[in-house]
Amino acid sequence: MAAEPIRAVEGTNDFTGDSARRFDRVLEAAAAHFPRYGYERVHLPLLEPTELFARAVGAATDIVEKEMYTFSPGKESLTLRPEGTAGAIRAYLQRNLAQAGGLVKLWYDGPMFRRERPQKGRHRQFHQIGVEAVGAADPLLDAETIVMGLRFFESLGIAGTRLRLNSIGCPDSACRPAYREALREAVRPDLPLYCPTCRNRYERNVLRVLDCKSPECKRLAANLPKSHERLCAACAGHFETVREALAASGAVFDVDYTLVRGLDYYTRTVFEYAHSALGAQDALGGGGRYDGLVEELGGKPTPAVGLAVGLERILLALAAGDACRCRPPLVAYGVSMGESARRGMMGLVMRLRAAGLSADMDYEGRSLKSQMRAANRREAVFALILGEDELSRGEVVVKDLRPGGTQRSVALADYITHLATRLTAPPENPDGAAGENRPAASE
Ligand code: AMP
Repeated sequence: MAAEPIRAVEGTNDFTGDSARRFDRVLEAAAAHFPRYGYERVHLPLLEPTELFARAVGAATDIVEKEMYTFSPGKESLTLRPEGTAGAIRAYLQRNLAQAGGLVKLWYDGPMFRRERPQKGRHRQFHQIGVEAVGAADPLLDAETIVMGLRFFESLGIAGTRLRLNSIGCPDSACRPAYREALREAVRPDLPLYCPTCRNRYERNVLRVLDCKSPECKRLAANLPKSHERLCAACAGHFETVREALAASGAVFDVDYTLVRGLDYYTRTVFEYAHSALGAQDALGGGGRYDGLVEELGGKPTPAVGLAVGLERILLALAAGDACRCRPPLVAYGVSMGESARRGMMGLVMRLRAAGLSADMDYEGRSLKSQMRAANRREAVFALILGEDELSRGEVVVKDLRPGGTQRSVALADYITHLATRLTAPPENPDGAAGENRPAASE
């Protein structure tokens, strides 16, 4: 009896075929994009002390309250990282990255883990690309970060990203604490009308009442005080400069007072990129300023700003726009007949790869016809055809598989140069083709 197949953990994904190629393309685009803004890549652990997230993300957040994968193999409590900023700042402090002086710009990518209810665009293991700029309070840096994210989506061919922007102020008593109090006062008379989650958040994290998705809570939230209208003078000035700098760089945005983001560490600027192709989970990414986090994690007071984009969401947007036909074509597929020709073909294919050209061949002992079909299926530009006759003459037949392509015998000494030259030239015209042009001996 066949063994029972084992299935993937709920909320995790396998990336295969086009989705794997798109995945790689997004990472390659990131590796080209972020260093242009002065960011250096870092690789960080997936496993961190639980305490890191409790302190950084905040005990009264959805993530820490109910979404973390936490376990205690020994005395210590460990957590699979639910987000990247906390670990990046831990590394910044532990590796003393500030010692060179000045602003430190880091980017990273990798899987994150949250025990959320899986749905389209929401997974339990998902991937983020994140950036953190640590060491400057300049509002122009907020604007640079936000625009950098927009340009990243553009570089991938994703059009139609919408930018939402807000400021949630700072811990100064005249700023966020006063706003929080005003919000509580405004919510209090209608508290019984809010959903159970909001009633629960009222005491612990009243700002989150603003981004509740329930229609009734949304209706009630329309009349609540707006944080960007109640900022202290310093935060108001900061927000104004961010908006001016964004406008100056051509970024279109909506100020959205319901944007508070689910993590405690944000101060002042918060932003989110949305895309209509994504459905209910419409955020491609987001971020904000977090001026208190470095100190919270044991460092000197150090202002910082960052963003994270979700790779799965980017893939959805790419697939929706069909922005990528991304299977890289194979330059050559080796087709051979007979054992010595098969071994000879292996040498030809190996030499092509060593010359930097992609090549593959049949390893299943198939008929000539099905080897040719495989060459077409693999979208090879050329089939290399080798039989015992060609081998004895020291030649290989090169068949151009592009529309209107011809085939010809080429000396084994010349086939790499021939392929490399033909690859960049249009297919030869069969009537005007020079030299020997005959069908493959054994086709
Ligand atoms: P956050 O760290 O919550 O600000 O998330 C930043 C971005 O990561 C979001 O805008 C999404 O694109 C992505 N993201 C967050 N949570 C998930 C999830 N559970 N599944 C897939 N993508 C997610």
